[in-house]
Amino acid sequence: MRDPDEELKALEARGLRRHLRRLNSPQQREIDLEGTGQCLNFSSNDYLGLTASPRLKRSFKEYLETYGVGSGASRLVCGTMDVHLELEEKLAALKGSEAALTFASGFATATGILPALCGKDDFIILDKLCHASLIDGARLSGATMRIYPHNDLEKLSNHLAWARGKAAPGNRIMVVTESVFSMDGDRAPLAEIVDLKDEVDALLLLDEAHAFGLIGPEGRGLAAEQGLESRVDLQMGTFSKAAGLSGGYVCASRDLVDLLINRARSFIYSSAPAPALAATISDAIDLIAGDDGAALRTRLWNHLGMFSETAESAIFPHVIGENDAALDASDTLLKSGFLVPAIRYPTVPRGTARLRITLSASHLPEDIASLKNALALCLSDC
Ligand SMILES: *Cc1c(COP(=O)(O)O)cnc(C)c1O
Repeated sequence: MRDPDEELKALEARGLRRHLRRLNSPQQREIDLEGTGQCLNFSSNDYLGLTASPRLKRSFKEYLETYGVGSGASRLVCGTMDVHLELEEKLAALKGSEAALTFASGFATATGILPALCGKDDFIILDKLCHASLIDGARLSGATMRIYPHNDLEKLSNHLAWARGKAAPGNRIMVVTESVFSMDGDRAPLAEIVDLKDEVDALLLLDEAHAFGLIGPEGRGLAAEQGLESRVDLQMGTFSKAAGLSGGYVCASRDLVDLLINRARSFIYSSAPAPALAATISDAIDLIAGDDGAALRTRLWNHLGMFSETAESAIFPHVIGENDAALDASDTLLKSGFLVPAIRYPTVPRGTARLRITLSASHLPEDIASLKNALALCLSDC
């Protein structure tokens, strides 16, 4: 039998062991990390600073009083509560789709959708840098998988032609990509991808996790920014990043959503998110799409512009290479009062360990300036 202690030691030896660090404060601009004390937080995906929004905190409290703290069961068992349906109607209206469905998390959304819509006779073609949840969803489906190098349209086109040649009538071909890549912060060439998938009559699943709330009119995402919402078959995302809460969603045609209600196992066999949470997410969407959201986006994009003249998102990787070197750089920054996490394999490819910096509207302009200085110092030393 394998000894777990040996396995942990092997991880340690390769600079790949992970530890949980206790946070003694809420998730916010300045945090209190045990053993370190106060530091500025450049690690979270709370891009608009909504985790601590006074307006959303008030909403959550009120809804807890109205709806209680839990949902009791899966939505197919106990009846589906009005707040979940209202949230989905709001999302569909916002994204210009016929229907929407919400899940307990973005991870559950991805691992629910792909096996529900694809099976062993189908084809799933993914960008190499797709999130673990999308890869796991594709694996669970049993479909034939093909991976194309990151944003490589020629390879994608080759895979699509190959799959179209193999697919029998009635088989599905699904392209999967992210609008903003979570560890690189760059964007997919969405217009070209949409053209390619339409040419061979494939479906497109677009994960807007790091774009929702930040990009496009009303923060609707990259598909909206490019006027492609009606041509993206499945727009998914999460409420755990810019929306500051938790949960996942997908917007699609009525038929696709009805099929997901019937087949997506992470939806069917998982209890509905707490009703107070669903109702608060509705308020977060109103906030994001309204004037307050627009002001937060302006503030965030000002920060991004201060940090880099070519910012495409709120994520800035600084690739270092070796695991230990990336951990050392992260430690050095932490000692100077900046939490900037080191990201290692398997989250990123081997040999590309990196610092991953994320900025938020909750930062002050001077925070960005001081981070830039600390980073320059740390990187000249490393
Ligand atoms: C974070 C993330 C998810 C998972 O979302 P959660 O709501 O945190 O489970 C899915 N896809 C991408 C691209 C992500 O970055």
